Amino acid sequence: MTTTTETATITVHAPATGEVVGTVPDLDAAAVHALAERARAAQPGWQALGFAGRAVILRKMQRWIMDHADELVATICAETGKTHEDALIAEVNYGAAAFGFWARQAPRYLGDSRVRTTQLLVRGKRLRSRYRPVGVVGVIGPWNYPLTNSFGDAIPALAAGNAVILKPSEVTPFTSLLLARGLAECGLPDGVFAVATGTGATGAAVVDEVDMVMFTGSTTTGRRVAAAAAARLIPASLELGGKDPMIVLADADVERAANHAAYYATFNCGQTCIAVERCYVEAPIYDEFVARVSAKVAALRQGVPNGPGSVDVGSLTFAPQVEVVERHVADAVARGARLLVGGERGDQKAGLWFQPTVLVDVDHSMEIMREETFGPTLPIMRVADADEAIRLANDSAYGLSASIFTRDVARGEALGRRLEAGAVTINDAVVNYTALELPMGGAKPGSGIGRRHGKEGITKYCRQQSMLSSRLHLRHDLHMHPYTARRTGQLFALLKLLNRGLTR
Ligand code: NAD
Repeated sequence: MTTTTETATITVHAPATGEVVGTVPDLDAAAVHALAERARAAQPGWQALGFAGRAVILRKMQRWIMDHADELVATICAETGKTHEDALIAEVNYGAAAFGFWARQAPRYLGDSRVRTTQLLVRGKRLRSRYRPVGVVGVIGPWNYPLTNSFGDAIPALAAGNAVILKPSEVTPFTSLLLARGLAECGLPDGVFAVATGTGATGAAVVDEVDMVMFTGSTTTGRRVAAAAAARLIPASLELGGKDPMIVLADADVERAANHAAYYATFNCGQTCIAVERCYVEAPIYDEFVARVSAKVAALRQGVPNGPGSVDVGSLTFAPQVEVVERHVADAVARGARLLVGGERGDQKAGLWFQPTVLVDVDHSMEIMREETFGPTLPIMRVADADEAIRLANDSAYGLSASIFTRDVARGEALGRRLEAGAVTINDAVVNYTALELPMGGAKPGSGIGRRHGKEGITKYCRQQSMLSSRLHLRHDLHMHPYTARRTGQLFALLKLLNRGLTR
């Protein structure tokens, strides 16, 4: 929760208790410009260190994260209200792994590659394709994963040789500031990485300064960022909202499917872009699945996180989110849905809370099946068969991830190819995100454009440069002036030969 005061600072509140965590500056456009000038001055030196030089610092940071895991978890929990485990597994673990991964992979993904050609004018010449950093990258992040999402995208950008200005969410700036301290302690040269704390206006100022923008957040803001980037003709990579479906077929291991539904709908209090947001279950196992999921969700312990194992589900993070979740549940109930578990804010005295919730008798006239809820809710819908499940899963403006549970993995994979989702998991969910080798991103505009992770997750921070070198050269190439009938005849004869199959 945040409030802006006249002195241009932002007060950050702990969403689980309402207590003040601290204040940070609300930077204006002039302050962002100053950061960009420092970044621009520092970037060439960072690039000149090369992959090996940069990897030394990135690997130190991997160790720094594990050495400071307790401080990081405490900071993340304080500003997000998430549990110790959600902070440790989905954030600290991700951050440390990402530093090691990009240090190792950057030279492999971005190294020069040789290009072969059969084209007449360039035969025998040496062709290469290479990547060079764009310069200064702007990373703008959301509040749900201040390390993994806000900060995580900065790591490959740095590994590629860019300077980075990170604009964390105004709701959760302290994790990024702590990591900036870590980078400085690990020897990152001054100016290469800066945290621009502030509100949306600060984010807009960042877009105005940088050479490429990586945005993670809502679809509405993503559209604005894309428009601002288009006006400057800079590339933008957008990771936006999700409404991920889970499909449970009649032959599924019901217990495994129920565990995945209950966990991935409620972990991080449901505030995960690739959370299970809706479930379609084939009729023969519907009752059993609903009974198992309801029992599991009803057993969850929700409360103020206080160290390992203290609670299963923490608070929501962002104040307006409580109203969104409440509105979606009320809309569903008004249209005929039945609440089996939860459905209310609960009895906490302070903070941002909504109970883990299970709903049935839902349909696609309801907001909870069509809009991103971003809360600990699981609406479950009965379907006649796999075709109906696929049709309903695809009936969405979003397309981030989707999961299918079935004992017939080959059939699951075949059905998965029909899903309009950037990632499909069979008998699993969400963990694909931890495979840093596997590209992740949206398959429909509502979920964004561009990819994070894998080769695409680092080449996007670069401009491609092609090189051609002539080692053996004539003084005068055949196709050059002056044009004569004799030489044109020779050239044409050669072209005819080549195009009659010699080039194959
Ligand atoms: P948001 O769009 O409200 O804010 C995201 C960031 O944009 C914040 O830092 C904000 O200050 C900044 N911002 C606001 N206006 C701006 C502007 N005009 N120009 C530049 N920056 C601006 O999103 P949120 O509420 O913080 O995050 C939740 C959303 O993020 C959800 O929709 C969720 O699905 C999405 N998300 C997506 C992914 C993914 O990988 N696809 C991951 C995490 C979260």
